[in-house]
Formats: sequence, C-alpha cells, structure tokens
Amino acid sequence: QKAADTNKAKVLKIGAEMTFPPFEFQEEGSKEYVGFDMDLAKAVAKQMGYTAEIQNIGFDGLIPALEAGNIDMIVSGMSITEERSKKIAFSKPYYKSGLSIVVKGDNNSITSFKDLEGKRIAVQIGTTGAEEARKIKDAKVREYNSNSEAYMELKAGGVDAVVNDLPVNEYYLTKSGEKNAKIVGDIVNAEEYGMAVTKKNTELVEKVNKAIDELKKNGEYEKIYVKWFGK
Ligand code: GLN
Repeated sequence: QKAADTNKAKVLKIGAEMTFPPFEFQEEGSKEYVGFDMDLAKAVAKQMGYTAEIQNIGFDGLIPALEAGNIDMIVSGMSITEERSKKIAFSKPYYKSGLSIVVKGDNNSITSFKDLEGKRIAVQIGTTGAEEARKIKDAKVREYNSNSEAYMELKAGGVDAVVNDLPVNEYYLTKSGEKNAKIVGDIVNAEEYGMAVTKKNTELVEKVNKAIDELKKNGEYEKIYVKWFGK
C-alpha cells in the first residue's frame, strides 16, 4: 500500500451497513453516519494519519466491495468468523457481542433458540444471525437487506421472531419506542467484532491493531464506548 501511504489526501475508504444502531446508523432526518463503529473507525483512521471516508453498503456487499478494491476497510459490526477469515483479514477484536431473539411482547411460546424450531424468523442477509437461523430445524428463514425491514416484519406479524446481535436488539427496544417487543434467549459474548481489510494488506492490519491499542491506552476508546453504551 505504498500508493496510499504517499497519497497526499490519505483517505481511508470505510464501508458499513447503516441499519445497525448503535454501531452505524443515520438519525432520522440526518444524512450523517453515526454510531460507535463510526466514531471508532474515524479515530483509528486519524491515529494512522488518514481521513475516514464512509460509504453505506449492503451487509452482503461489504466483502465483495473490499475484494473489488472499492473500499479499504470494513467497520460494520462484523463478527470475526472462520468462514470470513478465509477471504479477508480481521483486526484484533474491538467489541464483544452475541446473538439474541426479539419476539412480540405477548409471545410466551418462544423463550430460547430451541423454541424457534418450525417458526418464521426474520434476519439480515449475510449475517451470523442468518447463518444461526438456518441451522434451526424446520425454521422458515426470511432474509432482509436491512435490520429495519426485519423488525418491521415482526411488527407486522409476518414472522414470529427476529434473530440479531444483542446490543442492536437492545437498542431497538429502548430507542425505537417499540413497546410491544421483548428480547429472549441471549447467546452473549459468543462473537467478537473486527475491522476487516484485504488479505494482501498485511501492513494495514498491523497499523489498525496498533491504532486500536493506542486508543485503548490513551482513553479515546473508553470515551467512545461510554458515549454510546454508558458506563
Ligand atoms: N455481527 C453480525 C455479523 O457479523 C451482524 C452484523 C450486521 O448486521 N451489521 O454477521
């Protein structure tokens, strides 16, 4: 990546899918991309001497965009998995996460992943939630381009449950004003988010890891964490 290093503008193109609050999203009526990942991505870029330029890309289009060279890095609540690691290079983990289920408030028949057998489940396409849902016996899995559409389908009664990352489900319940929904069946701390670059870009992975370490040491990571998740 000599070319990028000597480029005067030093722009780092970052891709994310913007229906994943509080990690990456747009506030109503705003075009700005905000969230924990967006702040951290900008801080990491700055630490490495770049300016972050953020692009909104469908979740299942992120890895292809990276491979095509349209973006330099993915920062999109992307869980580090063995399968993905065959194609792309992940940074060290920067956030611990895991899957959970959202059902309607008056649904008392689904309390765990086991209870999802034979049920209609909404997920976002290309996610670990989609993968997990497909493993459930006789489940009718519907894949949506955005998380917002998956939650809307639950609200409309088109599915029995949404499987998605716990912090995003929590944000949906607390911040969207949705009263008739609840979270059940956590698989907490089973996944970790990583920033991702192409396998060829080993130099950038090292720089990103170093930047994450530095931001943890100088208190910047903590500041961003508290801003989005509280203490
Ligand atoms: N963490 C999940 C995954 O990596 C979901 C990410 C997302 O929807 N942005 O598949």
